[in-house]
Amino acid sequence: MKAPRSSIMESTEGRRRWGRAEDKSNTDPYKQPKKLHEPTVCPQCGAVFHEGRWQWLERPAGAHEARCPACHRINDDFPAGVLTFTGKFLEQHKPAILALARDQEAFEKHDHPENRIMRIEDQPDKLVIMTTDLHLPRRIAEAGRRAFEGKLHFDYDEDGCFVRIDCHRGP
Ligand SMILES: [Zn+2]
Repeated sequence: MKAPRSSIMESTEGRRRWGRAEDKSNTDPYKQPKKLHEPTVCPQCGAVFHEGRWQWLERPAGAHEARCPACHRINDDFPAGVLTFTGKFLEQHKPAILALARDQEAFEKHDHPENRIMRIEDQPDKLVIMTTDLHLPRRIAEAGRRAFEGKLHFDYDEDGCFVRIDCHRGP
């Protein structure tokens, strides 16, 4: 088992530092291959690959079809990000966190169709949000911290294809 190298503890006052996720993404098995025809439509979600990226557009006439990376991950149930909220504050604030997560997803997904929440596990003592990308869980975690002053802990996988974020706030 590989130990994650870029494990970072943060406090509410702590300055954010990022691990290696930004400089290494070319080994992601779900990254779009460069040679996709344009335009291509994802038959599952309707996103259109145009000018080198996935976008929400009207389906162009004569478009090719191929699944986008997000739908691939959803079908495989293979998240790129796992964000876990724990702490007694969940008892009171779970609906607010869920709403906040959906808001952040809507903002993010508008410009980046491949960045989505793929699954939410609502358990008695924790809330686990799984995403198709590395950026959205960070965004939700930061919004959660602003709202609830929790502590964040980031674990980036060594090759920068996976992030686990734990957000905890005591009672
Ligand atoms: Zn899709």
